[in-house]
Amino acid sequence: VLRATLQADRPQSGIQLILVALSDRTEQVALDRMRSDFIVNASHELRTPLASLIGFIETLQGPAADDAPARIRFLAIMAGQAARMRRLIDNLLSLSRIQMHEHERPSGRVAPGELLLRIADEHEPQLVAAGVVLTIEIDDDLPQLVADADQLAQVLQNLLDNALKYAGRPGRQGQVMLAAHAARVGLDPSSNGPSPNGVVLVVEDDGLGIAPHHVPRLTERFYRVETAGPPKSGSGLGLAIVKHIVGRHGGRLTIEGRPGQGARFSVWLPAAPRPER
Ligand code: ADP
Repeated sequence: VLRATLQADRPQSGIQLILVALSDRTEQVALDRMRSDFIVNASHELRTPLASLIGFIETLQGPAADDAPARIRFLAIMAGQAARMRRLIDNLLSLSRIQMHEHERPSGRVAPGELLLRIADEHEPQLVAAGVVLTIEIDDDLPQLVADADQLAQVLQNLLDNALKYAGRPGRQGQVMLAAHAARVGLDPSSNGPSPNGVVLVVEDDGLGIAPHHVPRLTERFYRVETAGPPKSGSGLGLAIVKHIVGRHGGRLTIEGRPGQGARFSVWLPAAPRPER
């Protein structure tokens, strides 16, 4: 508005400037709102385990001071709550680091098949604990990706952690599938021609899937779906992290809820140009 007033001697451009100033303001209000929602949500998520820790400390200092079996049990619960707080803080820091560098394109080279196998190996103890059968499909001769290896590993870790959490249905052994296929994605909007070569990484489970109305909101920070049965651990930040990393790599995340069949997450990433001969 101030800028518009300064231009008052040029009435036509003045009107344009008022509109620009108003839309700037609307954007600013939306940003402020997002920031304060974020702080409220983050504080709430941290307060819950903290309240439980304080409760147990008070019990151990008072009524349970001389109760050895209770002390062992309470300390185990407290360790779990402290670990939950640490996970949440690690995820918050990771998200803010990724957002800070969001506009810098990654420059490393990553072989997607090798990365997939490494992440599967690292998850072996969790696979065994969850009693899940893992299938892996990797195309021959996949191109390399221009990527930040640590961030891409984090994408696969977060998706695989979720798949292991939600795989299987009552009375059936869970199944998870990991795949890396060569793929093109739609048309390249900038050239209207075929899109560049790429690789699609797929993480699929055979759990209950996700109802369609939740799917568009899953990558929002702290968005979690209440499910029947025992609550699953998690911070609600895993998919927000995935979305930001994929965005930074110029890729695309597709979520198929497939209720009753199990969710499928596909990450398409552009291939590095082949070296000239
Ligand atoms: P969390 O730390 O809660 O897992 P995410 O951002 O990774 O956070 O996931 C957000 C929500 O998406 C989860 O709470 C869960 O409700 C849903 N979700 C994610 N992956 C799956 C899956 N493979 N099957 C069913 N629901 C899923």
